Amino acid sequence: MKNWLYPTLLACLATGVIPASAGDDEKALLKKAKKIHERAFTVDTHADTPMLLSRPGFDVTKDNDARTTNSKVDYPRMRKGGLDAIFWAVYLGQGPRTPEGHEIAKTKALGIFDAIHTTLKNTGSEAELVTTPQDALRVGKTGKRAIFIGVENGYPMGHDLSMLKKFYDLGARYMTLCHSSNNDICDSSTDPKGAEYQGLSPLGEQVVAEMNRLGMMIDVSHVSDSTFYDVVRLSKVPIIASHSGAKAVCDHPRNLTDDMLKALAKNGGVVQLNLLSDYVKTIPVSPEREAAQKAMLEKWGVKDRRAMMGAMSKLSEDDQKKLRADFMELNKKYPVQLATVKDAVDHIDHIVKLIGIDHVGMGADFDGGGALADCFDVGQYENFTVEFVRRGYSKKDIEKIWSGNFFRVMKAVEKSAPTEMIGK
Ligand SMILES: [Zn+2]
Repeated sequence: MKNWLYPTLLACLATGVIPASAGDDEKALLKKAKKIHERAFTVDTHADTPMLLSRPGFDVTKDNDARTTNSKVDYPRMRKGGLDAIFWAVYLGQGPRTPEGHEIAKTKALGIFDAIHTTLKNTGSEAELVTTPQDALRVGKTGKRAIFIGVENGYPMGHDLSMLKKFYDLGARYMTLCHSSNNDICDSSTDPKGAEYQGLSPLGEQVVAEMNRLGMMIDVSHVSDSTFYDVVRLSKVPIIASHSGAKAVCDHPRNLTDDMLKALAKNGGVVQLNLLSDYVKTIPVSPEREAAQKAMLEKWGVKDRRAMMGAMSKLSEDDQKKLRADFMELNKKYPVQLATVKDAVDHIDHIVKLIGIDHVGMGADFDGGGALADCFDVGQYENFTVEFVRRGYSKKDIEKIWSGNFFRVMKAVEKSAPTEMIGK
């Protein structure tokens, strides 16, 4: 799911501001949360910000207004929200599974890497590309933002396993095996056509082995349940779900069942919580909006919202802009109610009760659709720490959620790779 489906809505809580009306207990809680948030090293493992880097008018060094630009991440708002590090996704939607399609996707993916590298080169005084937890902590101490890279969708590697090393060399430290549709690597959780391989394809099995060899994390967000179990069975190291939630809390195919969460814990891995409202809580859409949305999509020849991404990629830049504007208009007229930080922390509570505190973190999917009523962009991340404190999570627990758990997995994966790979 990508951007602009749920933009610009509700009044947002101002992060870090202690209301004058708060009672003494509340003031003490907010003060405690603020201190913990400021001291914790915070990482978000999935954002689609690279899609905006080449958009005219977008400047990552400026505080972009989420309401008018529909951007959720930039350096000033990362600072405001106390976010130290983030993974920017080299995202490719699923296209034709042909040699030509793979070639085009590869070229596009390399172009996105290029855009990230160029941006970071041009904004070096504010942010730095990092590839290890140690690196991120070092950069964090300088006051700069630490930017990691992940590849979302294995599609652009085609059938060429050597592309994994290429991605690694360009800085990528995880790859999400697929996106919303099946690809040549595995089955997706949301392909309307259903399962094709009942898990990983033979190529997918080779991809898992090669990623293990390189020390590149395998991301199981977006994959089908059967693919998940294949990966858990085959991977020699812990795996990640860079942006997913708990299915028992919100029944969506993108979330993990309790059984999968238990398998993930046994594997030593981590699930990073997605803040896409649809995956956090099912909130019924009003019939008026439903009708207006249907009419609007029909105008563009799109069957339903799920078909939107595929349709979008076939449009010209100009038409994409017009379609985005139509959605903005729709959202203004018929606002969608978004899930809240409390709803999102219900996922974390559930996961912690089920498998303990060591297997959960944050991966909001900002700029890819992630947005809550009271954490609408990265600038409001402190609201999570406030809710963690309110629910009795200790400072140590909160630090594990914000980076400890994820970095443990990252280090384990890195360590398992042959020494000649490390640091490359
Ligand atoms: Zn995604």
